[in-house]
Amino acid sequence: MSTFNAPKGTYDLLPPDSATFLAVREAIARPLRNSGYGYIETPGFENVELFARGVGESTDIVTKEMYAFETKGGDRLALRPEGTASVLRAALEANLHKAGNLPVKLWYSGSYYRYERPQKGRYRHFSQVGAEAIGAEDPALDAELIILADQAYRSLGLRDFRILLNSLGDKECRPVYRAALQDFLRGLDLDEETLRRAEINPLRVLDDKRPDVQKQLTDAPILRDYLCDACKAYHEEVRELIGAAGVVFEDDARLVRGLDYYTRTTFEFVHDGLGAQSAVGGGGRYDGLSEMIGGPALPSVGWALGVDRTVLALRAEGVELPLPTVTSVYAVPLGEEARRVLFAKVTELRKLGIATDFAYGGKGLKGAMKNANRSGARYAIVAGERDLAEGVVQLKDMESGDQAPVGLNEIVAELETRLG
Ligand code: AMP
Repeated sequence: MSTFNAPKGTYDLLPPDSATFLAVREAIARPLRNSGYGYIETPGFENVELFARGVGESTDIVTKEMYAFETKGGDRLALRPEGTASVLRAALEANLHKAGNLPVKLWYSGSYYRYERPQKGRYRHFSQVGAEAIGAEDPALDAELIILADQAYRSLGLRDFRILLNSLGDKECRPVYRAALQDFLRGLDLDEETLRRAEINPLRVLDDKRPDVQKQLTDAPILRDYLCDACKAYHEEVRELIGAAGVVFEDDARLVRGLDYYTRTTFEFVHDGLGAQSAVGGGGRYDGLSEMIGGPALPSVGWALGVDRTVLALRAEGVELPLPTVTSVYAVPLGEEARRVLFAKVTELRKLGIATDFAYGGKGLKGAMKNANRSGARYAIVAGERDLAEGVVQLKDMESGDQAPVGLNEIVAELETRLG
């Protein structure tokens, strides 16, 4: 061990587990690529003001969890705590919305940072794959995203997840509800901080996990009863479209989520095998966000799925992903000349796309064969001085244990045929 450890709340992705993470990212991305979403990458940090305005001044993410700092040049930056604000910022900056092809559909994959209290499933550095569809108000678009996330999870073999769905209303009906909720909250026995929150962002109080608070919220007014006709019809259409696609969901009138920018459709994917940190992903519609960060009106919808928690969910369900074997052929040279000859064969095999590795460091036969075994290679090729003198290498089938000499000039073609 060195003097240094990974910072608190972070962990390293190491082989072989890291292969599962890559496979999860890939599985989430696949349905998006297949549905017209283009890949976008934005910087790991942004102007802090973008998140303050975009995510919301009163959210935990902005007030408590953001890694904000001033650069030597005096810029106020923050490590990105989420993806949506950055992606929208980038799309607006590049005028993607003016190219006449709305919605602009984008997907991303990367690292996010929140200064949270670390626990299982909650880290200070985590990984998300996300999707945003910018510039269209169409229930089919909301439905598409929910269906694609469902598809991604099902393709991974996950079963014990649930989709919670709600509508948060729009700028017509939400303020009426907000006022009614505020009235209700003012009459409760809440601590000072929660009362303050009720004044700034009363919907977030509904998200309070403390049992004594939850108990008092039993009779709180429910947004569903306040939705305007347009929001009701929109929500009904989303429900019908995802239902018709065979996606099972639950209506959750209390679902609010921790970011301020959501309007209308909101949803969360929860997994029942994860304990307290059960949300594996979430998203929704954010029709007002573009204007909040200085852009034109661009109704949009998106989600982000957490890679770390998805991997935990796979473990909880005991799902083993069918990961491809990393190495197909392992070459074991015995002696100087064999080293040069086999190294050239290794390069040839690799050029053909055959995953090949080599026993480096002048190991003896026993140690090298142990490594060959560990590599998971289907075949080993072994050559010593005598083999070379005869113009052959020994080809060993690691599964059956069978071994036979193959001509030096034939070995590459032979392996190509066998690995088909
Ligand atoms: P949010 O932006 O909070 O809705 O997060 C979307 C998803 O990202 C969550 O459902 C989690 O899977 C993941 N996520 C958020 N925060 C963390 C964290 N601190 N550690 C691990 N995963 C996280």
